Amino acid sequence: MDNPHPAISFDNTEYAFAYKTDQELKKANFLFSSMGYESLVKLGTRITPWAIKVGLPIKGIIRNTIFKQFVGGETLEETARVANKLEQFGVQVILDYGVEGKEGEENFDHACEEFIKVINYAATQHSMPFMSIKVTGFARFALLEKLDAAATDKSGYEGRVHTEVLNEEEKAEWQRVVARMHKIISAAAAKNIGVLVDAEETWIQDPVDALTMQMMELYNLDKVIVYNTVQLYRHDRLAFLKDSFEQAVNKRFILGAKLVRGAYMEKERKRAEEMGYPSPIQPSKEASDRDYNAGVEFCIEHLDKISLIVASHNEYSSLRAAELLDQKGLPHNHPHIHFSQLYGMSDNITFNLAKAGLPVSKYLPFGPIHDVVPYLMRRAQENSSVSGQTGRELGLIRKEMKRRKLR
Ligand SMILES: Cc1cc2nc3c(=O)[nH]c(=O)nc-3n(C[C@H](O)[C@H](O)[C@H](O)COP(=O)(O)OP(=O)(O)OC[C@H]3O[C@@H](n4cnc5c(N)ncnc54)[C@H](O)[C@@H]3O)c2cc1C
Repeated sequence: MDNPHPAISFDNTEYAFAYKTDQELKKANFLFSSMGYESLVKLGTRITPWAIKVGLPIKGIIRNTIFKQFVGGETLEETARVANKLEQFGVQVILDYGVEGKEGEENFDHACEEFIKVINYAATQHSMPFMSIKVTGFARFALLEKLDAAATDKSGYEGRVHTEVLNEEEKAEWQRVVARMHKIISAAAAKNIGVLVDAEETWIQDPVDALTMQMMELYNLDKVIVYNTVQLYRHDRLAFLKDSFEQAVNKRFILGAKLVRGAYMEKERKRAEEMGYPSPIQPSKEASDRDYNAGVEFCIEHLDKISLIVASHNEYSSLRAAELLDQKGLPHNHPHIHFSQLYGMSDNITFNLAKAGLPVSKYLPFGPIHDVVPYLMRRAQENSSVSGQTGRELGLIRKEMKRRKLR
């Protein structure tokens, strides 16, 4: 596809990898080459979670390879090294406390406290305007699943959580979830840090959307604190985005929208097939791209009332957003626009957007190795040969290695 914004180019690998030493670049080359082997990724993603669980001594290998590439550190303080380096190149950071799959009230309370620690820490840094949360970090998956199953209109935003299907104990449990969400968002509002609520599996998403929208209604009045994530690999989400906007206009709050394509495609399709319901995923990549770009256009069209985060590694989508801003005469530092890529991926987009004066960040997960394994496994799958992303990353890394005469 032609570059819709010829003044910005993502081909400059010197800018893209300026923050990496020769040694780091060689390591990235090795890692992405390995992820090019589909069978290796399949085996690795199956064995690693098990090996960590039974305590096999593989943490050292993980720490020096995939963890270093995609994660900011094991503790909040360790992320400072990466954040400081990125800041030198005008790149901001979205901290992502990488806890996944831990259940139990104690763990949920702990995660809530950790999220608040992240907010307080981000508020002391120059380059951390947002942080991200996962509702499954502080809510039981099966509880969300039960609430989701009770939602009648899957395609739109109903604006309420169907607590009538819960028994008394579960209702109290849900109230604790809501209280944790309030605690996190009010801490963020007090420190003026944006909270991005990640989108997860379709079968738990409805209560997450409803709760997030309720928070927006309370906190997104004259500035934007809360952002929902819209996964445009779902065929119903462009309508959902427009519906959310309508609700925001009616209730007079600003919509915070982080647009992604979506990370759980295979899992979603597999479940739909196994359980015999129509897949919620778009029929093709082209359909996901079409809706993603339409979502970007819709948000930029209404940028006075929507704060948009273009969260993507797709060059065309990122350039198209920049082009639309210019066409509308909107400044690159408009407070309602932000771009973001995952740490360890698509540095060519991030660093060249920063060079063009656009606000851009890296999503930077952190946490103990055993906690971030699910995140790492998703990155391995995303970068395996099937997805085509490996080719893209490797091509850029090798181009830069050649430029530095390393190969
Ligand atoms: C900052 C940031 C935050 C993120 N937060 C979330 C989040 O909260 N929730 C979440 O789910 N993901 C999240 N992601 C992950 C994101 O969903 C994937 O990185 C993303 O889908 C990759 O797509 P892309 O936009 O980079 O573009 P591309 O690389 O061009 O597109 C790849 C994507 O297209 C879609 N796709 C590929 N093939 C097909 C097909 N045959 N049919 C239909 N669709 C297809 C899939 O979603 C695939 O991941 C986040 C990503 C970023 C950068």
